[in-house]
Amino acid sequence: MEFRNRQVKYRGFISYRRFVSCRRSIALLLGAIFAAAMLFGLAGCGAKRPVRREATFLRLFDTKTTIIAYMDDEEEFAWYAQMIYDSLEEYHRLFDIYNSYEGISNLKTVNDMAGKAPVKVDRRIIDLLKYAKEWYEKTDGEINVAFGAVLRIWHDYRERGMEDPDAAGLPPLEALREAAEHTDINKVIIDEEASTVFLEDPGMSLDVGAIAKGYAVEQVSRMAAEKGFTSGLISVGGNVRAVGSKDGSGTPWNVGIQNPDPGNGNAMLHVLDVTDASVVTSGIYERYYTVDGKNYHHIIDPDTLFPSEEYKSVSIVCKDSGMADALSTAIFNMSFEEGMVFIESIPDTEAVWVLSSGELKYSSHFRDYIRK
Ligand code: ADP
Ligand code: MG
Repeated sequence: MEFRNRQVKYRGFISYRRFVSCRRSIALLLGAIFAAAMLFGLAGCGAKRPVRREATFLRLFDTKTTIIAYMDDEEEFAWYAQMIYDSLEEYHRLFDIYNSYEGISNLKTVNDMAGKAPVKVDRRIIDLLKYAKEWYEKTDGEINVAFGAVLRIWHDYRERGMEDPDAAGLPPLEALREAAEHTDINKVIIDEEASTVFLEDPGMSLDVGAIAKGYAVEQVSRMAAEKGFTSGLISVGGNVRAVGSKDGSGTPWNVGIQNPDPGNGNAMLHVLDVTDASVVTSGIYERYYTVDGKNYHHIIDPDTLFPSEEYKSVSIVCKDSGMADALSTAIFNMSFEEGMVFIESIPDTEAVWVLSSGELKYSSHFRDYIRK
């Protein structure tokens, strides 16, 4: 674990000149009044600004985690950062579909037991899957955590294609179609009382990549806030959750949205002012491979079984980072018109689309968030 602290220097600097004259006592008195005023003024302005502290970790959710807060006490910050990390790590292990961990049943266990038997799991897995089912319904199936069979094929082709670009190829449509036969989310059987999950179809598997990071960040940020972390930023691979404001007086956090097309010189598409809200982006630049000069990214449209080609990125701003994550992936698989209607139907939720042409589209109140 690595901590980086940037000391914020006090801006005020007190100086006074010595007066040497025959009216020395008057001058000294004036000097004393002046110095006192300076000191008083300094204290009144709250010159002691808290230190910006930042911790980064590289092991969770296959991406970079950053925790930022303005806090005087370094140890206090380290304690919060460690607590947030530990909690995120628990989610990471529970939601992992590629690795097993001693002593826990995670989503890999559930996948391994598909068609065989229900698996007793932690409540956090049950809650995530219930949440995922909700969003499947709301988005008309555009995000489907039971889409693992199809996503696994793309994942394998992508990994091979990235390793050896000359041998990169596309999955045969037949194989994708066959896999798509095993993606029925209604066959994810959740028994809340027994706390078990059972995949009824032996050919199916779960992949929670579209929602797990945002969901975990949301749960952890709420827990941290309850424990006193009432002002901070938690970012897991660009899933950013602002907790409270930057300081006690309501100054918003600034969160940048990466430009998916930095060719024009701007690394950031926009910098937003956010207070107690999330900013989450899905983009084609995150994970992709190239076949015959064309890039194939990692968000797969359930209708075509191929990466959606409409956008370079979609970013969502709303309070809940689980919802922002679900939405950013789902909107990617909707036409702009559909996505706009959908976003406008959800209160306090805004989006910016970067179309494949490079054109930008905004929901009605997105611009309110752009840094003034
Ligand atoms: P990232 O996690 O890279 O920031 P997203 O939140 O958009 O980006 O999630 C992309 C991930 O979601 C993919 O890597 C894959 O695991 C999963 N995924 C892709 N397409 C779908 C889909 N149609 N339904 C559900 N999950 C998907
Ligand atoms: Mg997402």
